[in-house]
Amino acid sequence: MTQKTILITGAARGIGLATAKLMLSRGWQVAMLDRDVDELAIASEGLAGAVPFICDVSIAEQVEATIPAILQKFDQLDAVVNNAGVAEFGPIEETDFAMWRRVMETNLDGVFLVSQAVVPALKKTRGAIVNIASISGLRASTLRVAYGTSKAAVIQLTKQQAAELGEYGIRANCVCPGPVRTKLAMAVHSQDIIDAYHDAIPLNRYGSETEIGEVIAFLCSEQASYVTGQVIASDGGFESTGVGLP
Ligand code: NAD
Repeated sequence: MTQKTILITGAARGIGLATAKLMLSRGWQVAMLDRDVDELAIASEGLAGAVPFICDVSIAEQVEATIPAILQKFDQLDAVVNNAGVAEFGPIEETDFAMWRRVMETNLDGVFLVSQAVVPALKKTRGAIVNIASISGLRASTLRVAYGTSKAAVIQLTKQQAAELGEYGIRANCVCPGPVRTKLAMAVHSQDIIDAYHDAIPLNRYGSETEIGEVIAFLCSEQASYVTGQVIASDGGFESTGVGLP
């Protein structure tokens, strides 16, 4: 049987790296894409079956150059995980346009650009797209005008992909993680936010990178062959409880 290949963006650390390790453990080859040259080199070192690719997903020219290089390296592409993301929090009046654009360029434009570039390859394998949004795209809370809006747009983009690409056998789903103690989250989660999450989440804790990776792995697998257009929160029950955040 041909070995399957997955492309994971933002794979140098956090949820992306945990997902890369999970997929490798299940026998997949992994194209690890990230814009952080140093962290990607460290993360991919010694991971048999993984190949690093330096690329900023928010820059169209870089995506246009990188996807063909990935397709040249591997025989086929069976799944893509659009995981690269940035978080910047602030009140509406303090969210300047440059910050708004930085968040949109990676979180939304990046998902569009990478997904579009891999469609021809995914048509050949009847492959899967998994986009990483957030509970902040499902429920509004203060400080997240740019981040939450970008993630809500990713949810809709996922549904558009499912609607249009289903006829080619391509499935598109979205994972909305709850809080995970990664570099991204810890840069924007104040102690107030951390305490509030513990109170508001029925399971009373943050999730782990691997817990999110397991959901992603399922959506990429044959076991999810009749699942598309779905938005799945892996959040300890936060989204469904209605408890607020500061
Ligand atoms: P992280 O900061 O640990 O990892 C993000 C990775 O993406 C980094 O390696 C970074 O270099 C890379 N990246 C950022 N912008 C990029 C770009 N333009 N091009 C290429 N690579 C880029 O963060 P994480 O928490 O693992 O986040 C992964 C995803 O999960 C993000 O989309 C994030 O919004 C989402 N998410 C995280 C949490 C959380 O609490 N950690 C919650 C909900 C959603």
